[in-house]
Amino acid sequence: MSNSVASFESMADALRQRFQQLHGRRPRIFRAPGRANLIGEHTDYNDGYVMPVAIDLYTWVAASRRDDRILHVHSDHFGETIEMSLDALSGSPRKHWSDYIRGVAAVLAAGGREVSGANLVIHGQVPLGAGLSSSASLEVSTALALMWTSNFELPPLAMVTVCQRAEHEYVGTRCGIMDQFVSTFGRSYHALMLDCRSLDFQLLPIPANARVVILNTMVRHELAAGEYNRRRADCESAVKTLRRHLPTVVALRDVTSADLERYKSELPDQVYRRCRHVISENQRVLAAAETLQAGDLNRFGHLMYESHRSLQCDYQVSSRELDVLVELASACPGVYGARMTGGGFGGCTVNLVRSDAVERFQSHITEGYKRATGIILAAYVCSAADGAGAW
Ligand code: ADP
Ligand code: MG
Repeated sequence: MSNSVASFESMADALRQRFQQLHGRRPRIFRAPGRANLIGEHTDYNDGYVMPVAIDLYTWVAASRRDDRILHVHSDHFGETIEMSLDALSGSPRKHWSDYIRGVAAVLAAGGREVSGANLVIHGQVPLGAGLSSSASLEVSTALALMWTSNFELPPLAMVTVCQRAEHEYVGTRCGIMDQFVSTFGRSYHALMLDCRSLDFQLLPIPANARVVILNTMVRHELAAGEYNRRRADCESAVKTLRRHLPTVVALRDVTSADLERYKSELPDQVYRRCRHVISENQRVLAAAETLQAGDLNRFGHLMYESHRSLQCDYQVSSRELDVLVELASACPGVYGARMTGGGFGGCTVNLVRSDAVERFQSHITEGYKRATGIILAAYVCSAADGAGAW
């Protein structure tokens, strides 16, 4: 797949034509990117730092206003059309893709703005459920489309929180804010370092010849959700214990390595190791920002490998398949760094690769992974992209 401007233009043309056939009018087109997290894993719910990039795979929404109270929505991916009344948006998650649309419309309306009827046609390039946040890109592109059809605009950060709330309340996923944030504020040739506490962010340069390659293990272990909740509980219990000595600590973000070592004996070994990951990972994100400022991708990549090791050994959320992919990547020429990304126990690795080495990297790693596991992986070769907007 080529993510060139020409291919985007022909895709938008095709979408526009189909919309016109369906609805007899010319739509306006919006798009919002998926994302990959370069470094900063399991730090978000500890009030820490993350460093995602928006990627040049988008969810596209073609939209026009209607004069009634109906949202008429078609998803190409599901080949399905649904209609909902703007007067009946409330209710718990229905476990259907339209929950995302319903949620965005409902939360926009709850903010006191009049949301008007609309026709939407959705075309997604972000693979669903692969860890590249098709969900946030769907929410953000839908929010842009509905604000335009309804003739009002929210400031970008307000739109981001609308999308996050929609996912919490109408889909039932307690997601952090990173995905919607970077889908909105991402910038081409840049990574975005986000402080999950203050929501301050910084754009950091990524050289034009670096590619972000996401490799999907195609494995998702059953334990992922339960283990995720246990990790969160471990972090919370550590904060509770440490607060007895350090009353200003609100989250692990506030604990230094020296503090952790000082009170180590009061924490069960497992909890201590969870903390050591979170605290060192925050330090790695800050160090990674410095390496990008200095244009030093080798040092950046080194921090990615360290992050993986910490997730593997201290946080214990890796899997054999993820370890195999990182190991294979580390032996490939032109690879700066690689690590698991997302919750863990399967899912994807993120790799930073020199563009002229991508082809060899992909074939080498596909073969090696098949030899080691018998599984054919899926690979997505991406560049850092601009955040959401009208096309
Ligand atoms: P991820 O965000 O990692 O891709 P999620 O499970 O959070 O995975 O979100 C995937 C869900 O988002 C899909 O199951 C679907 O309900 C919705 N979704 C994403 N893209 C589309 C699309 N193009 N059309 C309809 N629904 C979509
Ligand atoms: Mg998601």
